[in-house]
Amino acid sequence: MRKKIAAANWKMNCTYQQGEQLLQDILGANIALQDHQQAIFAVPFPYLIMAGAKVEGKKGYSISAQNVYNKKSGAYTGEVSAEMLKSIDIKYCLVGHSERREYFQESNQALAEKLDLLLANGITPIFCCGEPLEIREAGTQNSYVAKQLEESLFHLSAEVISTIVIAYEPIWAIGTGKTATAAQAQEIHAYLRSVLAGKYGAAVADAIPVLYGGSVKGNNAAELFACPDVDGGLVGGASLNAEEFATIIRSLP
Ligand code: 13P
Repeated sequence: MRKKIAAANWKMNCTYQQGEQLLQDILGANIALQDHQQAIFAVPFPYLIMAGAKVEGKKGYSISAQNVYNKKSGAYTGEVSAEMLKSIDIKYCLVGHSERREYFQESNQALAEKLDLLLANGITPIFCCGEPLEIREAGTQNSYVAKQLEESLFHLSAEVISTIVIAYEPIWAIGTGKTATAAQAQEIHAYLRSVLAGKYGAAVADAIPVLYGGSVKGNNAAELFACPDVDGGLVGGASLNAEEFATIIRSLP
């Protein structure tokens, strides 16, 4: 069975103390995860070590960074490398969130470099893709998102790509309260899987978890996660509320 994942993306929210409390409250719910289930917290850089200590020994719970630089090391003031993340035992890292693409001009090529550095350091990338509203309105979302996969992922070998996680996040659904319907999510997730199958074969495509992101809440998670090609969610706003994120974790099939 493919992994089913509830991933929190805190973005640039919470003080250290608030973050610590939030994690404590969610972990305090003591939600037992099965072998195929994962709960991941993508927290700001200064909280990674604290968060790592909190989930230590808790089966299925892991910490993710929200970003990494696309160079190995050197004179890049203010940036954080994959090797640094590895050295503090971080298991996951978001790559290419739409906010990074938009506000920091991250190109598909730069994202491919980030993926390579993470993978070389044993960190699982959570590769984000998704179309803006005008593309959805024009009905060309499939080719738009397929191009994001092709340009950032398709240099990877079959063996390597089967270890990553993909998150489909339509930009029009992020932070807007406007969730894709379960049918819309299922349709494009199945399409993305078919694109992966076209390049790598069905067995590889079937192994890759594809998460949905964009206004996932406690009250819509179960319906979205029940779709056969939706393997969980990448959650922004609702991940900042302990009770709501606990409900989302409990909604994992
Ligand atoms: P919201 O859940 O706030 O819509 O954010 C989604 C997102 O961008 C997660 O990475």
